[in-house]
Amino acid sequence: MVRGFALTASKLSRTLRLGAGTSVPGLIVQRLDPGYLRRRAGALEAAVVVSGTNGKTTTTAMIDAILTEQGIPTISNPSGANLFRGVATAIVHDLPPGPIGVFEVDEGALERLVPALRPTVLVLTNVFRDQLDRFGEPETVARLLQAAARRLPEGTTVVANADDPLLWHLVADLGAVGFGVRWAGVTPALRTGGEPEICPRCGGTLRYSRRTMAHLGAAACSGCGWSSSAPMYEVVLRGPMRLGPMPAQIDGMRFVLQASGVSNAYNAAAAIAAADAIGVGPWRSRRALERFQPRFGRGEALEFGDATVWLMLTKNPAGAAAVVAQVAADQGIGAVVVAVSDGWADGRDISWIWDADFECLASRRLPIVASGRRASDVAVRLKYAGANPMAVHPDPVAAISAATECAGAGGDIVVLATYTAMLDVRHALLGSRTARVANQQA
Ligand SMILES: [Zn+2]
Repeated sequence: MVRGFALTASKLSRTLRLGAGTSVPGLIVQRLDPGYLRRRAGALEAAVVVSGTNGKTTTTAMIDAILTEQGIPTISNPSGANLFRGVATAIVHDLPPGPIGVFEVDEGALERLVPALRPTVLVLTNVFRDQLDRFGEPETVARLLQAAARRLPEGTTVVANADDPLLWHLVADLGAVGFGVRWAGVTPALRTGGEPEICPRCGGTLRYSRRTMAHLGAAACSGCGWSSSAPMYEVVLRGPMRLGPMPAQIDGMRFVLQASGVSNAYNAAAAIAAADAIGVGPWRSRRALERFQPRFGRGEALEFGDATVWLMLTKNPAGAAAVVAQVAADQGIGAVVVAVSDGWADGRDISWIWDADFECLASRRLPIVASGRRASDVAVRLKYAGANPMAVHPDPVAAISAATECAGAGGDIVVLATYTAMLDVRHALLGSRTARVANQQA
């Protein structure tokens, strides 16, 4: 009865245009029947849960794409609906026979959702500084993930980032399966201040033998002898670093990763490891990933007039470092828009922009436009980075138009945007019908 009520409420909320109805049924279920989600999850063939600071949405979408290509029915929660009610809403609707659930779960909601979903596979992407006003320091998030991992039912496979010393140390004793990324040949060094680089066991200083981004890489502590484990699943990037498709390798098999960049290589490695844990081997995953198109602001390409606009969600210093390095290395980029807002999903505290490596952009001497609701803060930050913003436009269309003028013919535009700023850009460009999605089939 609760389910019927929840589904009616979902339809009603759509009819009354109260929202897409993505969380209303889940909210009702949560209030009226707290045991519902656990019972309903019993109908799933298997459940894969993805959590961590960066890459949840893309990793979830990649796993979903891999399974779907094998003809396996899946259900998933939409991007951002990653709290208890969002997951409950996804599961309240009619399920296909024998479905595998693939859910993105917020770090703060994980400990509560794990006993309800009893995941077959738990994927932990990484721990970075993010939403300081909500979670505080990375160690707090790491403890949340560890607490959830310790509530897993027997037999669950934990898939975790072996290149993240803090995270890996917390879950290694659970028999975790590690994934990682490295560059073939020369390693572009990406550094970010503010990420934990201390030994997870003794607090000593870590020494890195290789590093991909921020504190991710292979490290060892000279104080206590702790060292990173070699990842079981390692995506090797064959460069050069740029936006757009990138040659890669897994288990000696070459493939082209449509979703470019180090962050997406980590997402791909996590998805390959998770899929293997439920019986889909890397060689099959690799084929699906060759067709996987980044979406919803995660390296999505939009067309605006004659220009291509790359939309890169950027919400913390580590993510910014990876994106900035890609942008700086790509000679096809003509101008950059940095759009920072402080809306409901961004975190009110935008002080992280002072830890983001905009100096690297400034050294490329690319024209930069400050945008978003906090455009004036961005302009100040860019000035300190040694870049003089060409224009300051809180409005996304005005900002992208200004960037297009600066870029000249043939130059692509990159928009680094926080979550709600990214939504505003998508809404402005796609809603106004002046842009269309360039790198997606649908
Ligand atoms: Zn140590």
